[in-house]
Amino acid sequence: MAPGLVCADCGRTYEAGPNEPWQCACGAPLELNMEPALGDPPQTFDREAGLWAFDAFLPVNREVTLGEGWTPLVDAPTWDATFKLEYVFPSGSFKDRGATTTLSRAVTLDVNRVIEDSSGNAGASIALYAARAGIPGEIYVPTGVKPAKRAAIEGTGATVVEVDGARADVSQAAREAVAAGKGWYASHAWNPTFYAGTMTAAYEIAVQRGFEAPDAMVVPIGHGTLFLGLYRGFAALESAGWIDRMPRLLGVQAAGVAPIAETVGTAAGTQTKNELADGIQIAEPVRAAQITRAVRETNGTVIAVAEEQTRATWHTLHRAGFHVEPTSAVAVAGLEAYRTHGLDRDQDVVVPLTGSGLKSA
Ligand SMILES: [Zn+2]
Repeated sequence: MAPGLVCADCGRTYEAGPNEPWQCACGAPLELNMEPALGDPPQTFDREAGLWAFDAFLPVNREVTLGEGWTPLVDAPTWDATFKLEYVFPSGSFKDRGATTTLSRAVTLDVNRVIEDSSGNAGASIALYAARAGIPGEIYVPTGVKPAKRAAIEGTGATVVEVDGARADVSQAAREAVAAGKGWYASHAWNPTFYAGTMTAAYEIAVQRGFEAPDAMVVPIGHGTLFLGLYRGFAALESAGWIDRMPRLLGVQAAGVAPIAETVGTAAGTQTKNELADGIQIAEPVRAAQITRAVRETNGTVIAVAEEQTRATWHTLHRAGFHVEPTSAVAVAGLEAYRTHGLDRDQDVVVPLTGSGLKSA
């Protein structure tokens, strides 16, 4: 049985099913009507099971998996930091954490088609896991999506629908298809099961570090799928006593499209657009209020980084052995900026590198 849905804003509840709503009647995003209960940390974890080693803490049964998870945590001496290689995944990005749980729910609900909209990585991930599940996928992308990303989606057999206009128009087209009864909205931004998956990044980091939370994490923010997953994951770990404090969550956005940085008061709104970081150019994150709360509760902040800075860091990363896409370089460029603004070098910092460079052509 799959848990139903609940609105954190107005308290309405909805039953689980292939026709369940993707949004509350009040307009807010929905959550799963089930809290993760961690209990005591197990003595060992079955790493062969990938992130499903944490299945006792996941609100969904393992139905669709490609062995994803336990991404490497490696030393990055150039930056006096530790990188979590979140591009070491079947589709080349951390989005697989959310796709494995979201498609697992889709199978449990007997969904006959999944619909997603994405600038690339989330679409490629949902399409790959839909193929693994044997469920047809329909992925809405902006016209002009990077050819390597389009190919990654199309090669799975999923239908690619190109939409002219802004990123918001692409989402609108996908939601119209859902409203017309064409399929279930497997949206990385809206679907709460996706966030249950991204929480496992925090669980892995805790286990890999011997249950010692880092001082801070520097994380890119578009819709905040990883940022919120880390927040929720570390919060669950702290309340279960696996770790004794929350890391500070330091966000990084692309200059020119940095709504959270503007809200928490550390970005100039008029900066030139960072077009290199197209993957996180989200003007209206669905869960903006939750992200802002997570920033404030962890004594964090959010900054925006410029294109030139991102490009320079991207090249430095590749020369240091990290072949990532430009949007991943945003986080490390952000770390460099935080360091010049008072983040001590002796602070223990973990930075996720979110997407592979192989898909950025
Ligand atoms: Zn509501």
